[in-house]
Amino acid sequence: MNPKEIFCNEVIISVMKENDSNPISIKELELLLLEQREYVIEYGIKNFSIAFDGYDFIHEGIEHLKSVLGLIKFPLHTNIQLYIYTNGAILTKDWALSFKKYNILIKIFNESYLKVSNNLDVIRNSQVKVLTKGIGILNVPGLEVNYELISVIDYRADPSIIYNFIKRHAIKRLEFVLPEANHNSYPVYKTVGHHPAPYGKWLSEFFELWYKDNDKPFIRMFNQLINLTFDQGVVSQTFGNSYNRRIYLDRNGYSGIRTSLNNSGAVPTLNAVYGNDYNYQNFHAKKKLCSVCSHCLIKKNCGGGAFSTRFSMDRSYDNPSVYCLDLLKIILYIFNKLIAELPNNKRDQLDLDFLSIEEAMRAIDDIRIKNTSKYIKL
Ligand code: SF4
Repeated sequence: MNPKEIFCNEVIISVMKENDSNPISIKELELLLLEQREYVIEYGIKNFSIAFDGYDFIHEGIEHLKSVLGLIKFPLHTNIQLYIYTNGAILTKDWALSFKKYNILIKIFNESYLKVSNNLDVIRNSQVKVLTKGIGILNVPGLEVNYELISVIDYRADPSIIYNFIKRHAIKRLEFVLPEANHNSYPVYKTVGHHPAPYGKWLSEFFELWYKDNDKPFIRMFNQLINLTFDQGVVSQTFGNSYNRRIYLDRNGYSGIRTSLNNSGAVPTLNAVYGNDYNYQNFHAKKKLCSVCSHCLIKKNCGGGAFSTRFSMDRSYDNPSVYCLDLLKIILYIFNKLIAELPNNKRDQLDLDFLSIEEAMRAIDDIRIKNTSKYIKL
């Protein structure tokens, strides 16, 4: 496969730890960045993002951050975006000022407060304390540091408690993610017999609270689903039907699922990463759907879900997402809600009509039932 077949325009290189508690050294980072630089030049990449792990910097201090930034030398035409991922622990006033000074976007990754059950007080959770203290610093009037909260959804938490939490802490930007899962590693609810689409149900309830709010935070997922309802292009790993032009590399140069190509222990060349089968399929994931998804009435909005969630041992990525029912539920909830508010003539003009979950399920059930031996039960 020719690596140039993938016209990627954004690479995120994550220098975050992976089974390694040592901070990345300046020497390691220098080598990694030099390699990326060659790659950016060779393929004329326009947008290049680098994600750092806040944990590395907590121990090494602000001087370390300055040394790292000194290593970032890319061609002028490349737009470099720097991110820092943290659970909030690094967020002191000094750090916040440094991130602001160097235009580093802060992504606060949190899975703890959404894990609380309904009868626990979220505020008593120690990880939540770290998070809220950090957010308090970023929200100080006049500091105005750019940040976004990334939250792994836990469908057991009460959406209204979580919504109140977001509002109380004046969180302005939020991204929801579904827990990592696929057909070989099921989301927990599939094994304990809960609601068949608990994430879709949870997100629909959360959407309702958000929609009614006159001073809404920006929620990336909802924004994407609203745009997709009205046929606006959306670039997303989970929804829509655009090419996935984003490649993630970890600190060893690995990307996506480890393949025989990069299992040898040697750092693979970038061309090998760029052109490997996983990245190739991931790039085309929203265009090359399995036969169930290609019969789905909302395939343009859903696009088969995130590539990694389609995996099964026997069929590789040729499956609907393991979150298919959840995706159907939230997509159609938003879709039907929005078009209900349109006047009839506008609805006709846009050629939009209501679609029930049952009707959408019937369209995919036919093909699923014909292929019972082939496709996994949704
Ligand atoms: S079948 Fe499921 S996963 Fe596939 S496009 Fe439709 S909703 Fe998405």
